[in-house]
Amino acid sequence: MSTILITGGAGFIGTNFILDWVKNTDENIVNLDKLTYAGNLHNLVSLTNNPQHIFVQGDICDSERISTLLERYQPRAIIHMAAESHVDRSIHGPEYFIQTNITGTFRLLEAARHYWGDLSVSRKENFRFLHVSTDEVFGTLTKDAPAFTENHCFQPNSPYSASKASSDCLVRAYHHTYGLPVLTTHCSNNYGAYQFPEKLIPLMIVNALAGKPLPVYGDGQQIRDWLYVNDHCQAIRVVLEKGQPGETYNIGGWNEKSNLEIIHTICDVLQQFQQKDYRALITHVADRPGHDRRYAINAHKIERELGWRPLETFETGIRKTIQWYLENHDWVAEVQSGDYRKWVEINY
Ligand code: NAD
Repeated sequence: MSTILITGGAGFIGTNFILDWVKNTDENIVNLDKLTYAGNLHNLVSLTNNPQHIFVQGDICDSERISTLLERYQPRAIIHMAAESHVDRSIHGPEYFIQTNITGTFRLLEAARHYWGDLSVSRKENFRFLHVSTDEVFGTLTKDAPAFTENHCFQPNSPYSASKASSDCLVRAYHHTYGLPVLTTHCSNNYGAYQFPEKLIPLMIVNALAGKPLPVYGDGQQIRDWLYVNDHCQAIRVVLEKGQPGETYNIGGWNEKSNLEIIHTICDVLQQFQQKDYRALITHVADRPGHDRRYAINAHKIERELGWRPLETFETGIRKTIQWYLENHDWVAEVQSGDYRKWVEINY
């Protein structure tokens, strides 16, 4: 039975990816995750007795651990998602971002290079290292500038985006120097089920439902592209199976929206579900230092070359997301109380 190794599979995108993978393929998935505050094993509780999902608690900075896992499970691919991912946290404590996003990626690449070098010719040819990155590496755009293409230069502005850009450069170098068959994806902002409520969309939903203020950074006119997480997961699968080694692919939702527009939409959809006025909770707070004004992603290449396009519009995706948070009070309560950490001891 063939196997893939995923890093960071207990996080937001990893959870959605694994649940979808297990539902739609027969292939085993080894999930290496350190379980930082952002990793939640309860998300994967439905797979506890499913031999297709093998969970391993471990750090991507631990070279020996990674090499042992590669030798033991002989994956045909690595999908690298583990990262420190929250921009605000990177402003207050950049060290973890350097450690995991740069050093961790380097250690993973090193282990992958040695493992790949020892594979038979045919397995070597088919092996892939897929690095999941972000559009934030490209920096900020003015209002009317064309969207980022794959060739846009890196101009990261936060410790988070700088650490991701560094990891992208390492991944690129391992292809050019050693021939490692890498693929890199640059995706815009994701939203959907299981997202930790420190990120914009779940924070607004959770605060609104609790009657708490909805904090908007500055004037709220910062523009982002938004992609429903299940569409991102499909795109990763398409890139893994059809992408050209050494290439990078932008992934986006064709949904450029300002933060304030997003918050208004959440308030309005919630109002339809709950018959309450949520816009009154909106509160403007001091802007984030170095806050990028606009990201926009040109995702023509992945559509043209690999045939992928998102299925959800923002309007359909946000309704599904809000519905999920309304139906999963217990998940939110567990995350807020810290009880989700107990799932490590209970299940593994
Ligand atoms: P997340 O913060 O929800 O999850 C990250 C996961 O990585 C957690 O489970 C955490 O425990 C794990 N992890 C952290 N440090 C680790 C380490 N040293 N060793 C092993 N595991 C570790 O992040 P996410 O939103 O799911 O993002 C996943 C990837 O996608 C990241 O690389 C991120 O940069 C990228 N990305 C995210 C978005 C987004 O909008 N969420 C957009 C584009 C790209």
